[in-house]
Amino acid sequence: MIVNDRIVTYIHSLEKANSDLLEEIERHAHADGVPIIRKEMESFLRVMIGMNKPKKILELGTAVAYSAILMSECCDAKIVTIENYEPRINQAKKNITKAQKEEVITLLEGDALEILEKMDEEFDFVFMDAAKAQYINFLPHVMRLLKKGGILVADNVLQEGDLIESKFATRRRDRTIHTRMREFMYEVKHNPQLETTIVPIGDGVTVSIRL
Ligand code: SAH
Ligand code: MG
Repeated sequence: MIVNDRIVTYIHSLEKANSDLLEEIERHAHADGVPIIRKEMESFLRVMIGMNKPKKILELGTAVAYSAILMSECCDAKIVTIENYEPRINQAKKNITKAQKEEVITLLEGDALEILEKMDEEFDFVFMDAAKAQYINFLPHVMRLLKKGGILVADNVLQEGDLIESKFATRRRDRTIHTRMREFMYEVKHNPQLETTIVPIGDGVTVSIRL
């Protein structure tokens, strides 16, 4: 937890209900232990998208397409989303069909980095939410694919607040993730082609404008 529990509970209590389908996907995801964006990130994304009015969105990390469907409901953009874990790909496809978003959401199956390397279409908005230790490797490709004035939102950048803990207090696997996440954070803050703000809601999120 980054923000005080009671504040988070209060913020959640004010959130509106989603479409029935999203509510259903969310219930299943929580029951099955599938990671999906946190409640307070939903309106955050909706507001970011409302301000940017993207025509094309790229998402790294589909899981079961919860956030992809959520984004598709609040704008008229085409969405390309990437997922590499077979069971989630199957569930994501089912959910996209149920949402009748097959024309809007394209699910690319495979490793995000490998797919990014081969992509050359431009995007107005990127939601980075896959392998956290890879953010730093995704970034050069995102820079290449993101239009000037485009927005990059990266989720889970503060890692439950553990990012700033001593390396002795964290497990080895987490240490690697944290080290690489800190590299990512430094890079998005110091890259002259980005203006970035770090927002400590949810699990921590960065918002960057491609200058
Ligand atoms: N954006 C989703 C949640 C994504 S969870 C939502 O809010 O609904 C992160 C997902 O990234 C997981 O499903 C995981 O399988 C996937 N992932 C992790 N590493 C990946 C990689 N290298 N390439 C593609 N997908 C990856
Ligand atoms: Mg996330």
